Amino acid sequence: MAAERRRVSPFGAGMPRGRITSRELLGGKGAGLAEMTRLGLPVPPGFTLPTTICTEFSAGNRLPAGLREQMFRTVEKIGEVLDRGFGDPDRPLLVSVRSGARVSMPGMMDTVLNLGLNHSTVEGLAEDSGDDRFAWDAYRRFVAMYGDVVLGLCDEEHGNPFEAFLIREKKRHRVGEDHELPAEALRRVAESGLAYVQDRTGRPFPSSPQEQLVGAVKSVFQSWNNDRARAYRRMHGIPDDWGTAVNVQAMVFGNLGADSGTGVAFTRDPATGEKVLYGEYLLNAQGEDVVAGTRTPLPIALLEKAMPKVHRELLRLRKVLEDHFGDMQDVEFTIERGELFLLQTRTGKRTGAAAVRIATDLVKERRLKPEEALLRIEAESLTQLLAPVFSVREKDKALAAGRSLARGLNAGPGAATGRLVFTARDAVEWAARGEDVVLARQETSPEDIRGMQAARGVLTQHGGMTSHAALVARQMGRVCVAGCGDAAIDAGRKRLAAGGRILHEGDWVSLDGTTGQVVEGRIPTHESPVLKVVVGAAKPTRDGDDARFRQVLAWADRVRRLKVRANADQPDQAELAIALGAEGIGLCRTEHMFFGEEKLPAMQRMILADGPEARQAALSAILPLQQKDFEGLFRAMAGRPVTIRTLDPPLHEFLPHDDKEIRELAARLELPARQVRERVKALHESNPMLGFRGCRLTWLIPEILDVQARAIFRAAATLRGEGKTVRPEIMIPLVGHRAELAAHRTRIEAIAAEEAARSGTRVSFKVGTMIEVPRAALTAGEIAVEADFFSFGTNDLTQTVLAMSRDDGGTFLPAYVDAGVYGKDPFVSIDVDGVGRLLALAVKEGRRARPGLKVGICGEHGGDPASVELCEKLQLDYVSCSPFRLPVARLAAAQAVLRA
Ligand code: ADP
Ligand code: MG
Ligand code: MG
Repeated sequence: MAAERRRVSPFGAGMPRGRITSRELLGGKGAGLAEMTRLGLPVPPGFTLPTTICTEFSAGNRLPAGLREQMFRTVEKIGEVLDRGFGDPDRPLLVSVRSGARVSMPGMMDTVLNLGLNHSTVEGLAEDSGDDRFAWDAYRRFVAMYGDVVLGLCDEEHGNPFEAFLIREKKRHRVGEDHELPAEALRRVAESGLAYVQDRTGRPFPSSPQEQLVGAVKSVFQSWNNDRARAYRRMHGIPDDWGTAVNVQAMVFGNLGADSGTGVAFTRDPATGEKVLYGEYLLNAQGEDVVAGTRTPLPIALLEKAMPKVHRELLRLRKVLEDHFGDMQDVEFTIERGELFLLQTRTGKRTGAAAVRIATDLVKERRLKPEEALLRIEAESLTQLLAPVFSVREKDKALAAGRSLARGLNAGPGAATGRLVFTARDAVEWAARGEDVVLARQETSPEDIRGMQAARGVLTQHGGMTSHAALVARQMGRVCVAGCGDAAIDAGRKRLAAGGRILHEGDWVSLDGTTGQVVEGRIPTHESPVLKVVVGAAKPTRDGDDARFRQVLAWADRVRRLKVRANADQPDQAELAIALGAEGIGLCRTEHMFFGEEKLPAMQRMILADGPEARQAALSAILPLQQKDFEGLFRAMAGRPVTIRTLDPPLHEFLPHDDKEIRELAARLELPARQVRERVKALHESNPMLGFRGCRLTWLIPEILDVQARAIFRAAATLRGEGKTVRPEIMIPLVGHRAELAAHRTRIEAIAAEEAARSGTRVSFKVGTMIEVPRAALTAGEIAVEADFFSFGTNDLTQTVLAMSRDDGGTFLPAYVDAGVYGKDPFVSIDVDGVGRLLALAVKEGRRARPGLKVGICGEHGGDPASVELCEKLQLDYVSCSPFRLPVARLAAAQAVLRA
């Protein structure tokens, strides 16, 4: 018979070497444990069940044949290493059963600790440790965790009954903290738990360690598919089919007295990136106490005094870890009676500023090359460096006025001001109504992530810098003040008591995530210091955030192939865009110009005109205004290409709809109200998105095109007269048929000739089209004959390809995204399989018909890192996005090259 395939992968001191270290198979935690084993670091022995088993398990809800036996044999091996035995009444071996997916999903799935305890091993543990209290504490924790995670006995209906038994004992003994309870009380908690399990399930709590192990392993595999894990994956674009690994590991105990403890350490400061050992610990505690935020831990610097040897050892391990991984690590450690153990290492989550600092420092330290450093920064996180901070004056005023409420931990830097809400659900609902909200929670749990996403800032009463709230907030770039013990947050009554005051739901509050201050009321925010330097409003520093930000972008610019442009219509936006790296304008929406105060009436007159003469008169009034707009834009762009889209929205958008406003408009324009009313009615469409808009407007009313083209050429001529370069690119929206573009081109060329004759200057220009109608993409080969360039309008293209209105998607799209149908919101990140395929087709056929055809993208997607990566794959020439997303696009474009 062929040798049985070895499925489990051992790790840790004394165990045989596992053969694999890939995170795809072992998950992040398992791979970290395997790597640390190779480095000879103190890791308690254990084994990993690879992610492939999760996939098999999910298919039939059963463990593969032979796996149980392999697990039991490996547990025996662990016992040999430690001179203990699973179920041994004298020297019991206890293990933890931990989940660990390929990428870390903090707190998303469940862990069971102290597994292996039963009536006889608990006595053995007591004897062996010489500590009754400790043994019963471990047992009652195990019963509670197993009852919750494996047996599923905690839910909305029942609450957490195990917690209730604990609270009952604390009341009986009149103590506030768990650790003040004596052994016999903990014993009663454990026994109440065991009896409760029998009661609810009709079966005794499993006493066989083997049975416990199988139960826990199965439930960790099952937890991959629980709701909060799914929600987390949606939000972070993690595929459902990756599966989780399971790690079974010998327990070490941080709760064996004052010479024991547990903590989390970062090899650098995750908020600022500074190169210092950073983290926190608790003495006489088990690991989950730090992460759960039930006790507020101490800063790690204090460990130097409390346990100098351990602190020195941590400093040493920090160097070993960074040398090996070449990045900031986040480790979980436990000290058992003075001995240090590492339980987990992973790449540490960090703020945008820290990411930039760590990447540039690692290059300085010669641990990384610039190209590698670029891949260490999440492109999206760069937006955090441009986010607003509080106006110092206003904040000082608020503090002087005594509005300071409390101070917590500066867990997620930045400035947030918003109205108080107390549940994740309210946060989501209020934010959907356009409110800025601050979410206040006693402590956050994974169920709160949607609320955190929706909020400007998050405030928690409990928990440290490494609590769930802090971790998730930093990753999302949310402002967060954690562990704010001076604030009493009462979610039930929706009130917050702090600084002698009581705030209610809806009251304004401001959080300074950089200092940890909580202030009553609204404090205006203002530009980030990095942004100020970037736009030239402040002096650059030599080694501040701004210097590092520019360094990273300079490296990115050296690597990237894609050009970046901005979507901008006003000179000030154009200037901002250039400061942020724009190499041109990819989309100037001319209708934005018409909404200007002086231009709107002219536009309205044009729409309401009752004959060609009236229309011509109105258009003549528009011409010089529009010409001035373009002159401003061309000047600001200083010779860079400017893509100008001709009028796109349906005309009714320029007119009022309710009767009062209609009468007012009529009076202003000296027109009969009836005429206005009739015109509004005539322009009404049942489906304006697919109606009379885009090039269909200029097809029927070409005078609009004429006036826009004339304005462009006249503006260009003015600049040429000043000796400046101008590169206008006229872009026709909503083209679906070659004939549309051909007609527009002919007309534009005629105007160009007229204007050249008039001014005596020939301006060179391009005419191209948006590709935003599926027919245009499908017939790109024909359309390209008429086009100097294509620009994918992926907002409309997504709407039309998916037949989903972006504005109405709110009612159903989230359900699709939740169900994993679209990995991410297709309006945020290009739907690669659908829309992406059309893009590929259009690029191929367009360039076949017209070699060298310039192709770009100008939808919102142009600033989304995953979409930028697709644009690189399709060999587009440029991406265009809103000015603030330009740094993201530049870095993402470089990363796309490096990943290819
Ligand atoms: P998560 O992925 O949610 O962080 P973990 O699997 O890391 O979950 O475990 C939760 C907590 O239990 C951590 O604080 C960890 O340090 C602790 N823990 C896990 N396994 C052990 C063990 N073998 N001995 C002691 N503590 C452990
Ligand atoms: Mg962990
Ligand atoms: Mg469009």
